[in-house]
Amino acid sequence: MKEYVCSKCGRFIGKEGQVIEEDFLYVNKTWGFFSKKDGEIHEFCLCEACYDALTKGFRTPVQVEEASELL
Ligand SMILES: [Zn+2]
Repeated sequence: MKEYVCSKCGRFIGKEGQVIEEDFLYVNKTWGFFSKKDGEIHEFCLCEACYDALTKGFRTPVQVEEASELL
């Protein structure tokens, strides 16, 4: 069972297949040919607080729009 742990603060978020009572950022990136990591799959999670701290430092703010349907 996959465990989700925030990569920045190390806080345990939850386990795959269980109800996780918070939302978080999950990144799964397959790097391609034009990168220096061709063929590598990188994966990490960030909790919402660490996501907010990261995106606050962006030069261009995160684009936000309302989801039309919340699942
Ligand atoms: Zn965190």
